[in-house]
Amino acid sequence: MGKVIIKKLKIKTCHGVNDFEKRQPQLFEFSAEVTCDFYEAAQNDEIAQTINYSTVCKIITAVATQNVFNLIETLASRCAEAILDNFPKATAVKVRVEKPQAPVRAKFKTMAAEAELKRVTAYLSLGSSMGDRKAYLDFAVKELAATRGITVKKVSSYMESEPYGGVAHNKFLNACVEVNTYLPPRALLFEIHRIEAAGERSRTLRWDDRTLDIDIIFYGREVICEDGLTVPHADYANRPFVTEPLKEIAPDFICPATGMRVKDILPSPCGGEEA
Ligand code: ATP
Ligand code: CA
Ligand code: CA
Repeated sequence: MGKVIIKKLKIKTCHGVNDFEKRQPQLFEFSAEVTCDFYEAAQNDEIAQTINYSTVCKIITAVATQNVFNLIETLASRCAEAILDNFPKATAVKVRVEKPQAPVRAKFKTMAAEAELKRVTAYLSLGSSMGDRKAYLDFAVKELAATRGITVKKVSSYMESEPYGGVAHNKFLNACVEVNTYLPPRALLFEIHRIEAAGERSRTLRWDDRTLDIDIIFYGREVICEDGLTVPHADYANRPFVTEPLKEIAPDFICPATGMRVKDILPSPCGGEEA
């Protein structure tokens, strides 16, 4: 891995919570660290194979001058996203925005905000048991692919399964999807809920029949145990309708919670136990 680094790119533009800041340009300084594997570029001495720092400067300039934001947090985040959108090769980015002339009555050198994003491989489980089940799974894949910050890499076969948990009556159609994403886990969950809602998902009983359910099974190697978000999914290993499609697209992925390789997971019979 390597890093392409830009320090203190100076741009006069308008951002700030005060009205006058939105009209009068002031100085902003942008620093960026873009992580990428530039081994090949270095071997071939070929600019097309690395992160062109002139392009990074153009991207930052476009974001900084074509928008007016209240916050340098927003400005830094938008720059980071635009850099990753433009360079699929980049695996992570850090953007620092400094505002040395911020209108604050105090002695200071600068005010700054830093946004850091990294690309992660995540695995999602899809399920549908109402209406045109295949159309709902197709819709989910299409919507995921159309979401900024998400690239769909692999889609498993669609497999039929018996309802889980003793609540639903219909058979399910299930699949797993591998995505590459720079969305942080909560942002990914937010997009998933948006897509479920667009897929006419109504929230009734847990495990009840539904048009579309999307669960996060893995988010890179992260283990998350928070209110409203547990990753790896708390019960995935007991669900053949998750592990079977997962084995098809990610047999060698190692579960960060158990250390178990996906292809070695032997699901216990579906019980629908509360996880
Ligand atoms: P299960 O999670 O057991 O498969 P479900 O999918 O039917 O049940 P939902 O009603 O879709 O449950 O989701 C309930 C809540 O679960 C969501 O609002 C979300 O906040 C939370 N949740 C926790 N961990 C995850 C995860 N890994 N993926 C998706 N949602 C999760
Ligand atoms: Ca689920
Ligand atoms: Ca769910």
